[in-house]
This record gives sequence, C-alpha cells and structure tokens, in this order.
Amino acid sequence: MVRTGAEYIASLRDDRTVYMHGERVRDVTEHPALQGAIRSIAGLYDLAAAPENRTVMTFPSPATGAPVNMSFLMPRTPEDLVARRRAHRLWADATFGMMGRSPDHVAGFMTGFALCPDLFARDGQRFGDNVVRFHAYLRDHDLYTAYVIIPPHIDRSKPAHQQEDPHLYAGVVEERSDGIVVTGAQTLGTGAAISNEIFVSSIVPLGPGDESYALSLCVPTASPGLRMIVRRPYAETAPSVYDYPLSSRFDETDALVVFDRVFVPWERVFVYRNTALTRAQFYETPAHALGNHQAQVRFASKAQFLAGLSLRIAESIGVDKTPQTQTMLGELASYCAMAAGLVVASETECVRDPRGFVSPSATYLYANNWLQATYYQTMLTYLRELAGSGLLQVPASYKDYLNPEIAGDLERYVRSPGLKSIERTKLYKLAWDLVGSEFAGRHQQYELFYAGGRAQTTSVRVYRAFDFAAARAMVERCLAGYDLPAAPPGS
Ligand SMILES: Cc1cc2nc3c(=O)[nH]c(=O)nc-3n(C[C@H](O)[C@H](O)[C@H](O)COP(=O)(O)OP(=O)(O)OC[C@H]3O[C@@H](n4cnc5c(N)ncnc54)[C@H](O)[C@@H]3O)c2cc1C
Repeated sequence: MVRTGAEYIASLRDDRTVYMHGERVRDVTEHPALQGAIRSIAGLYDLAAAPENRTVMTFPSPATGAPVNMSFLMPRTPEDLVARRRAHRLWADATFGMMGRSPDHVAGFMTGFALCPDLFARDGQRFGDNVVRFHAYLRDHDLYTAYVIIPPHIDRSKPAHQQEDPHLYAGVVEERSDGIVVTGAQTLGTGAAISNEIFVSSIVPLGPGDESYALSLCVPTASPGLRMIVRRPYAETAPSVYDYPLSSRFDETDALVVFDRVFVPWERVFVYRNTALTRAQFYETPAHALGNHQAQVRFASKAQFLAGLSLRIAESIGVDKTPQTQTMLGELASYCAMAAGLVVASETECVRDPRGFVSPSATYLYANNWLQATYYQTMLTYLRELAGSGLLQVPASYKDYLNPEIAGDLERYVRSPGLKSIERTKLYKLAWDLVGSEFAGRHQQYELFYAGGRAQTTSVRVYRAFDFAAARAMVERCLAGYDLPAAPPGS
C-alpha cells in the first residue's frame, strides 16, 4: 500500500523521545518548528498516493499486488533505474530538491540490501532472510527510514574501540537469545525525528578490535531507550513562509541519536559483529549506489531550481540580456546539465550483476558526488553575484507591508520593472533562503558532506571506480607508437 500524508502524520504520534532546547517534545506533529517539514513529507506521500501519479510513483507489491512506492523497486533492467529516477524526480521537484533525506533515500539502501541476501547470509542464513523480509515490511507498510551511519565526532585519530569510553559509538553491550542490546550514539540523523524507522550501522571503516560496533540493524524511531537531540530547527524563527519559504517548510532537522540500552530483536539485525560485512553491505551490494542515485536526482532538481532563480533575479533588474550575465547563466546551465547528465550516464552504463539485478555505474555516480560537492559553492556564488545588495534590501518581514506609514516607501523604492514590491521582496527572500540564511548554510554543509568528505571519501571512491587500467593502457599505446629518431646517415 502507499500511505496518505494524513496516515504518515498519524504514524508519528508514537511517544518518540525527541529533545529540543532542553525540553522533551511531547508530540512532534504539534511542534511549530517541526510542522513545516512534516507537512512537506506528508505532501510527498499524498503525491505518491494520487491516482494521476500511480504509474510514475508505484509498482505492484510482489507480495500483495497493491501499489507500493517505486523507491522499493528492485532494479533488474536499465529501464527499472529510469523508473526509479522518474519517481525520485517527481518527489524532489515537489520540494525543489531541498529535502535530501526524503523517504526514498534510505529506501534505496534497503532495496540494495534485499538484492543481495547471500552477502548477509555469510554469517548465517537468518541474516540474509532478515534483509529480504525487512525490505518487504518497509515496502508494504510504506515506512520512512532515516539513518545514522557515522559515529559521533569525538576523536577521528582513533578507532572505535580505542575511544576513551567504550560506549561512545553505538555498539552491542549485551547478547540475548531473542536479540541484542545497543548503547552509545550515532549521527547525523537527518529526518530522524520525523521518521518511522532508523537504520543504524557504520560506513566509516572498522578494523580489528571494533567488532562490537560492526552492526547493521533497524529500530523503530519510538524504541524504548532511543533519544534524539535535534539541532535548532530553522523554521522556529521564520515569521512566515513568505519571509523564509525554504527554512519554514523544508528543514528536515538533524539529530544526534542516542541509544541507551536499546533492545533490537534478531529479526531486525542484518550484520552482527563483522567488520568486513559491515563495509561490504554498502559497496558489494547496490545499496550505496541506489541511495546516492536518489541523492543525485534530488541534486539535479535543486540545481535546476537554482539556475531558474538566478535567471529570475537577473530579469528582475533587467540585466539578463547582458553578455556578462549570460556567461554566468551559461555556466550555471552547464552545471545543471552535468548534474542530470551524469545520473543518466550512471543508468545507461549500469552494471549487470550475475544475480539478476543492475546497479548504477559507480564511475559516473561517484564522479557526480565529487563534482556537485565542488561546484555547488560556485553556483551559489553566481546567484549572490547576480542578486547584489538586493538580497539585503528587503523589509524585515511581511509585517512592514501591513504598516501604512512605510508600506508606501516599500512600494515606491523596493520594486522592479514588472514586479510589484511584494512580488520582488518575495523573490529576493526566496533567494536569500537559498544562499544566505541559516538553512542555506546548512545546505552548503549538506552538499559538501552528505556522501562523505571530498578529500577522504568521495575522491577515493571515484579513484577506485575509474578504469585507470584502460587510461594507462592508452598512454602505453601512445608511448609504444614512437621511439628515438633514427640516427642520421653518416653519424
Ligand atoms: C547536513 C548534513 C546532513 C547529514 N545527514 C546524515 C544522515 O542523515 N545520516 C548519516 O549517517 N550521516 C549524515 N551526515 C554525516 C555525513 O555522512 C558526514 O558528515 C560525512 O560522512 C563526513 O563525516 P564527518 O562529518 O564525521 O567528517 P569527518 O570524516 O570527520 O571529516 C572532517 C574532516 O576531517 C578530515 N578527516 C577525518 N578523518 C581523517 C583522517 N583519518 N585522516 C585525514 N583526514 C581526516 C576529513 O577529510 C574532513 O576534512 C550528514 C552531514 C551533514 C553535514
């Protein structure tokens, strides 16, 4: 089945433990700082449930025949990847690419796991069965899973087991006949406070001695002993959607997720005390590739939005036809084409696995991760350059338009050809929320880090994925094609 937005909202009323500003949030659906994001996610569920989107957003569940969300589709052909992309794009466009960890993100990881039960079964058939059963459970109940697969930022120079306290990183502290008990923390739970399930593991490589932290499992967000400490939601200071159209609606929130003796039944454990398998689950299955496929479709949507906004800003002050502006817009358009084009390349050049599934090409996928983390900053700079002081020449809030003592000034001096004052301010406030607000700053950090740091992670993935053997062979062929010049006669 696919849920409606109302059903999703109702599912969050489960007495989960969320803390904000030193207080427990009794009901996330009633909290003003979280409501905007919850409504936006609910809107995504409504879109998927709408009859007119059924073909794009759903496929029949192999178990029940009922329509289920396309993000759980197991891709067996390149066309399946295209179908997944179309669904991701419809959702991403609905939030203008601003919600990175929408429910289709971790769904990709879970789908990737379920395609490779043999890998999980290396430690016992029950683990292989668990990934298959759990994927079907998420799919048929249309659940929103967030994930925490990074240990807290404490001391990166030491492995997990050598941190000064053995219970800093989330790890197993007790094994029982019916499951395990987990204590410690993991981060950074984007969307965790408004999700149904949390996937817990470590994508950071683990070594000998780290076995207690080498886990892969899923827990309900409202599990006893699970606490989430969220950062300041940006919606809380937004006077209105008009003033902060992105902060007020699309701030997913990020959270430190603390496990205080959280019990996890064996049926929800996928990897147990195995460092090699913890790593292999991401890279020897299509999990990481499918999750990042969604991330990049989402980025392509955001890039297009940013380019469109840049054009609208340039038009608003009548500089859109100048060569300088068109040079900037041309560069922005090139980034958009690269973002979307590399996604298509990753599908066209997908890798066929002998087990009967396809995975987006790692070469194009990881190049895309590295590139977009790099040029996103440049795209923002162009939007800033085009907007100039206009970003700041805006009233403090919509309330200034309600005061007749100054509304006339605003209408006279804050306007553009073809744009009344209220419309112009609306446009520039939107641009500020993308380049200058706290929400914008968080998004810069997100694009830089969501797939791992550039220097240490994404560049290494591209290095490994790229066919350097072929590149090297090309150079060898070139070198083999010539030699020292023949000695001149008589020398
Ligand atoms: C907005 C946002 C949302 C996120 N959402 C999620 C989420 O939903 N779920 C999730 O699990 N994670 C999430 N993350 C975390 C993200 O996956 C990590 O930020 C990323 O993997 C990098 O890890 P880190 O932040 O611990 O930085 P680090 O890996 O610690 O890197 C910080 C700096 O230290 C350097 N460095 C670190 N270790 C070494 C070393 N050994 N040698 C040399 N240099 C080193 C890096 O190159 C980098 O420059 C999110 C991050 C952000 C910013």
